[in-house]
Amino acid sequence: MRIDVLGVGFDNITVEQAVAEGVRLMQTPGAHYAVTPNPEIVEVCREDGDALEAVNGADLVLADGIGVIYGAKILGTPLKGRVTGIGFAQALMERMAGSGKSLYLLGAKPGIAEKAAANLQVQYPGLKIAGTHDGYFQEDGPVTSAIRASGADVVFVCLGAPKQEKWMRDHGEATGAHLLVGLGGCLDVFSGEVQRAPEVFQKLGLEWLHRLAKNPSRIGRMMKLPLFLVHAAGGKRK
Ligand code: UDP
Repeated sequence: MRIDVLGVGFDNITVEQAVAEGVRLMQTPGAHYAVTPNPEIVEVCREDGDALEAVNGADLVLADGIGVIYGAKILGTPLKGRVTGIGFAQALMERMAGSGKSLYLLGAKPGIAEKAAANLQVQYPGLKIAGTHDGYFQEDGPVTSAIRASGADVVFVCLGAPKQEKWMRDHGEATGAHLLVGLGGCLDVFSGEVQRAPEVFQKLGLEWLHRLAKNPSRIGRMMKLPLFLVHAAGGKRK
């Protein structure tokens, strides 16, 4: 069942259910894609109909970020919980390492995906990395061909939102992979270039505060969060 939060339909599922669904999709013929919208992306979707269509057209729409959980609560239709993109990706890699499925890493600045691949192979022994490609390409054809030739089952698409959502919708099929997951800045974290917030921040849902402290120029983007909550309050269903 999907819960509407300001136009975006979120799957009302737990982390375990999301991972089980991800595993099922990677074994199902055809191309499927998962998105992990935070409040900032919901706000982008309110102004960009094409982004909204790409997000809602996903096979899995996971509530990444405590703000979405608050938003759903304010609207009177609470979600079961948060499913962070990074947590979802980590659980999927654990399952892939045990089942021989292969992963392609697409996105971030040149060199980052390779670095992430090397780290992930240490963290998830047995994980097969089919290939990597940076996220600053001009033509899509050579990229989809490279992914197809690699035989990857799963692709982590880290091009930032809403570019990655549109890319997965438009080019997912051409990659030959069964599951594509839009993961924003995750490759920067997996490569070690960007530190994830300490666990206490993660548990309290304050990762955004840590990111802001590390990178104050994000303030403009982050002001979308209070705006999102105001919109949610204005859209209250009861
Ligand atoms: N990126 C990319 N190609 C682009 C634009 C961005 O590969 O054309 C990458 C960028 O290098 C970064 C990621 O996409 O690794 C977006 O990170 P950000 O933290 O902005 O994403 P969020 O998780 O907030 O959506």
